Amino acid sequence: MARQVLIVGASRGIGLEFVRQYRAAGAQVVATARKEEDLARLRELGATALKLDVTDTASASGLAWQIDGHQFDEAVIVAGVYGPKTSGLQTPSAEDFDAVMRANVLGPMRVIPQLADALAPGARLAVISSKMGSIALRGSTAGWLYRASKAALNSVLKDASLALAERAICISFHPGWVRTDMGGSEADIDVATSVAGMRTVLATVKPEYNGCFFNYDGQALAW
Ligand code: NDP
Repeated sequence: MARQVLIVGASRGIGLEFVRQYRAAGAQVVATARKEEDLARLRELGATALKLDVTDTASASGLAWQIDGHQFDEAVIVAGVYGPKTSGLQTPSAEDFDAVMRANVLGPMRVIPQLADALAPGARLAVISSKMGSIALRGSTAGWLYRASKAALNSVLKDASLALAERAICISFHPGWVRTDMGGSEADIDVATSVAGMRTVLATVKPEYNGCFFNYDGQALAW
């Protein structure tokens, strides 16, 4: 039977590439996006497309019934925003704080509990975090708010790995510095390389690595 995969935040960039690669590998893919034109493109790729804005309470709370009956082998929460491009300790506006934390932290906190019953035994659940969220590897203050949001996301994933331990292997990814709208054209790697690496990690990660943080190429990262 074809593998079932869920990609949350698949309109472009890393999420869209996950859809492309999983479809090319013959998986049944359920993918989410916010805009009608993006939903149409996902359908053209052969995915089941669901409208989902993780910052919208009504939209986000409807996910469980939309995926009722699915048993996902892999689920990846990709949706995220960078927020203000600061380079020092610049206090974010309350609006920027709310926007970034809602998308990067509250979004996964809304999505993950709704996935619990839709994960196949032994499933892999991943969030796309960032090395910028690592406290141990911290060497810069660029993107202060984004860093805080990804550190919080790593905490969210760690708790998910405890709560879902009987059901799934839960991991956090740094996707690399990737050429996307967010990563920019000067970034190190293309989306195909990043996503191929993360798919390999998802396919091979062992249960003892539940609750761990990985680079896209499988290297373990410090929190
Ligand atoms: P993009 O900016 O290209 O894509 C961001 C994606 O997130 C889009 O699909 C966007 O949808 C979606 N999204 C944003 N807000 C919401 C929301 N409220 N509800 C649903 N979907 C939402 O970024 P990337 O592909 O580069 O990044 C994907 C993930 O990888 C992010 O979490 C990012 O933080 C992380 N990351 C990226 C790095 C890089 O170098 N590119 C490095 C480290 C981490 P829409 O089109 O509707 O806006």
